[in-house]
Amino acid sequence: MNEIELVSRLAGKVRSVHPALISGIGDDCAIWRPRVNEDLVFTTDFLLEGVHFERDIYSPADIGHKALARGLSDIAAMGAEPRFCLLSLALAPDCDRRWIDSFYSGFLKLAKRFRVDLAGGDLSHSDRVLCDIVVCGAVPKGRALRRDGARAGDSIFVSGRLGRDWREYRRPVPRIELGLALRGRATACMDLTDGLSLDLHRLCLASGVAAAVENVPLRKGQTMDQGEDYELLWTMPARRKSPQGAIRIGGITTGRPGLVLLNGEPLPVRGYDHLQQ
Ligand SMILES: [Mg+2]
Repeated sequence: MNEIELVSRLAGKVRSVHPALISGIGDDCAIWRPRVNEDLVFTTDFLLEGVHFERDIYSPADIGHKALARGLSDIAAMGAEPRFCLLSLALAPDCDRRWIDSFYSGFLKLAKRFRVDLAGGDLSHSDRVLCDIVVCGAVPKGRALRRDGARAGDSIFVSGRLGRDWREYRRPVPRIELGLALRGRATACMDLTDGLSLDLHRLCLASGVAAAVENVPLRKGQTMDQGEDYELLWTMPARRKSPQGAIRIGGITTGRPGLVLLNGEPLPVRGYDHLQQ
């Protein structure tokens, strides 16, 4: 299958769900007409063979799913609704037509579920599979959830039990609905992708506060600094009603910005750092 065939096959499969997408796959740029009174949020994420997945464990459909899920998890963390995405994909020499079809079936199934238009991208080749996703989401003006709003006295929550074996964790479900429910309630929010100890440290640094956590819910045999949890971490004034499924793990305190105490002891900042691998 050559590039023109693939692009025209894709263009045939992709049904745009947003009228704001004026022109999608097949032109030099996608055209998107934003609404007034909304902010657009953008995120970009790599999903790389040998770094984020191995092809003997992940099916092509798993890889397609996860490439988009990583971007959507960031959109959820902002309290945004996903709108469109752009995907750049480098194929390895042995990725045949079946592989490519299966990859896009996993990708487009998740895109349909969360109403994201695939508006364009790029294709290339490499010795390993490389995916680079850009996702755009939208929030009512000024209402995006950020990392810098946590204040002393807020409670800290996570959306589920933590700890994953990243090699095995193939189909994360982005917490889009929860992110929307947290708009106007959470003071700060982020998604957990690099492990609680590193991510909570980042949230506290951004907000200029410290944190004290206890009773962190962990999956059996897992630690809190492996990353790839794809849960949300957020803070909220204690008086506000927390959404269903929220697990309170502690509170925000005054103290050295970025300091996190676990059961009274400083928690070492030790998550997944790509520059330290
Ligand atoms: Mg993130």
